[in-house]
Parts: sequence; structure tokens; C-alpha cells
Amino acid sequence: MPTPIIGLTSYAGKNKAGHPIVALMNQYLTAISQAGGVPMLIPPGETSQAVTALLERLDGILLTGGGDIAIERFGGEPHPTVDGVDLERDAVEFALVQAAEKSGKPFLGICRGFQVVNVALGGTLYTHIQDQLPGAIKHDYDSDSQRQYLAHTIRMEKSSALAGILGESDLKVNSLHHQGAKDLAPAVKPAAYAPDGLVEGLEIPGHPFGMAVQWHPEWLLDQPVTRRLFGAFVEAAGKG
Ligand code: MN
Repeated sequence: MPTPIIGLTSYAGKNKAGHPIVALMNQYLTAISQAGGVPMLIPPGETSQAVTALLERLDGILLTGGGDIAIERFGGEPHPTVDGVDLERDAVEFALVQAAEKSGKPFLGICRGFQVVNVALGGTLYTHIQDQLPGAIKHDYDSDSQRQYLAHTIRMEKSSALAGILGESDLKVNSLHHQGAKDLAPAVKPAAYAPDGLVEGLEIPGHPFGMAVQWHPEWLLDQPVTRRLFGAFVEAAGKG
């Protein structure tokens, strides 16, 4: 079987000289390489034709972390903390998820990617958990210094495919997000919950591998449970 090639969504920014760049934290690429895949960046701003061409050639899609989704995408409540909105990135990632959901192309969403999967398929988000989810615990640990801090537990939905892959019923995870799933998309089932009831894992029943997690497993690669997640994703991509 040829080595699976995994497309990873990336962000547009600027380097120190002010020149435009396309970038992604290397931890995501390491996670895919370590699991036996070849990582390849998908830039924001590509056309829907490009998305179609990418999906024909790539074996799997990793929807990565990043800024907030435009609230217009889901009729979200405006909030002053909404940050890092990139309409071109939203467009590429939504097109990828919608096409991958239909075609059965394996995909994994992480953090922002979890939120993209939910919203692209018709779900909504809390635009700031602390102000909108009654009884919310702290989810927005500092994203520069606490990437590996195990902030809260999650409880797996026992019958979920995600629980089967992770092989655990409870897990401690990092938490670097201020938004989260409010209403789940119709095609999506919850697979894990934080102690305050927030959905931290989701999956698409019947899909070869359509899953997303709200935490950041790419920073927890020393955990066997995390390596099982990336391993199962790359393995599913290899069968596509
Ligand atoms: Mn969390």
C-alpha cells in the first residue's frame, strides 16, 4: 500500500519583514509523519475547483487549529473576543469538509477544525463559552505556554468509534479554546464530553473516518492514546 498523503489546512500570515506567508505549527506535521503519513499543506484561498482536485489526490484531510470562524456562517452571537477570522480559510475548509463528508474521504478535525466540521455540516457554536454556557469550566488556557497542560477530563461516549480507537473511557486533555459546539450538526454524533457538558469529540456515523476533537492531541504525542488516534486516521486514509 502506498504511503498515505494527508492534506493539512494552514493559515495566512506575515513574516518578520512583513511579507505574506502560509504557515502551520510543525507539531501537526510531526503527528502525521509519526503515524506513517506524508503531510502536505493546503493553503487558504484556493478555489472550489482546487478543492475538488485536492480531494481526488489526497488520502485524508487534517483540519487544524486556528482563529475563529466568521459568525455569519452559523448565525452566531457577536462577542468582543471573536478573533482571527479569515473568510478565505473558512471557505476552503468548509468546502473540504462538505465534500469529504459526502465522498467518504477520511478527515480529522482538531480544535478550530472540530468547530469547522460542526458548522460546515449545519451546527452552531458558542462564540465565547465562558459567557454563554451556564456552569462552564475554564477551557481557554493560554495558547502560548500551556499547550501540553492537561486542563480537564473528558468522558467518552462508550459506543462511539472514537472511544474504540482511544481505548479509554476517561481521558485528561489540554484545552486551548474559547469557543465550542452549541447545537451539533444533524449528521454528527457526540463522542466525548467535558465535565460541564461541552462536546469535546464528535464523529459521523457510517463514515470511514469522519471525526473531530476539541482538544489538541498534536501536543500530546508522548501519550499512547494520542498515537492511537493519529495512527487510526492515517490507517483509514491508506485504505481510501
Ligand atoms: Mn476544553
